[in-house]
Amino acid sequence: MRRPIDTAAPLRPRLPSPVWDVPDPWLADRGVELRLKRDDLIHPLVPGNKWRKLAPNLRAAVERGHTRLLTFGGAYSHHIRAVAAAGAAYGLSTVGVIRGDELADAPRNWSLARAEEHGMELAFVTRSAYRETLRGLGEGDPGLLRRLEERWGRAYVLPEGGTNVLAAQGTAQLVAELPDLGPGDVVCCAVGTGGTLAGIAAALPAGARAVGFAVLKGAEGYLDGEVAELHRRGWGRAFGTWRIEHGYHGGGYGRVPPELEAFAARFEERHGVRLERRYVAKMLWGVHGLVERGELAPGSRVTAVVTGPPDPEGPEASAAGTRPGP
Ligand SMILES: *Cc1c(COP(=O)(O)O)cnc(C)c1O
Repeated sequence: MRRPIDTAAPLRPRLPSPVWDVPDPWLADRGVELRLKRDDLIHPLVPGNKWRKLAPNLRAAVERGHTRLLTFGGAYSHHIRAVAAAGAAYGLSTVGVIRGDELADAPRNWSLARAEEHGMELAFVTRSAYRETLRGLGEGDPGLLRRLEERWGRAYVLPEGGTNVLAAQGTAQLVAELPDLGPGDVVCCAVGTGGTLAGIAAALPAGARAVGFAVLKGAEGYLDGEVAELHRRGWGRAFGTWRIEHGYHGGGYGRVPPELEAFAARFEERHGVRLERRYVAKMLWGVHGLVERGELAPGSRVTAVVTGPPDPEGPEASAAGTRPGP
């Protein structure tokens, strides 16, 4: 007999995640207060928004009798590692479909090696096949779903980045952990697929706003629409509480220009927090930019969501495999 799943066990996430005040004279001079919502500390293996987004999906998977999770990601995907670790903890087998067939025979990078250590079965596909598969999934193509099932058996399918309506509703939870939000509050997060921003924006109390910072280049054309679509499907309405800044991707996913690196290093030194570069540093760089441009009025309080921890440093990171990239 199956017991109802308790997603608080067995991973035992640290919830609510801590909130850190970040006193900063430069911001104080401009009348802006900054604090960090340390979601990166939720769990060492399933941290940040990956926990928030997976928790309701794990529950749904188990409730629907699934024993296997199937998902998609790139060579360094935080989501892939998180699914592998969460699946292992809940006794679900996991399959990761990985973009880039050239990776199949290359030495595993640290990120994929970790996923495999947690028992994830990796399947490497060409970039075009990957794109086609994601498109088919997005459209709910029945032929594609059948082919996936034939290949992998019955599985609970999580889209790339783990974003679906349940995931967005999971990230709304972080706003519930900030009961003091109100007018003058701005909650900021990095935006990959938009699931995290969608959940935050939908949960804000009156007067508070959310600003997301896109980490992908060229996302102006579709990303805002995807957030709006999550709102429509998950909440049955639109929200006027949010917007996306598209000027801080630093040249594209995984790109860290010298200016951004310098900003991140300065922030780390000043505040004693290491910053994940692909998402978190870009978001904080963007917050800094908004203040510089006078777009955050004096009296604003920024709650910046630290959506994940930095990559490991040293031998583990450089041991093997390809360089980080899209
Ligand atoms: C995956 C990830 C994001 C992107 O979240 P979306 O919900 O896809 O927008 C942001 N920050 C970190 C650290 C991540 O790992």
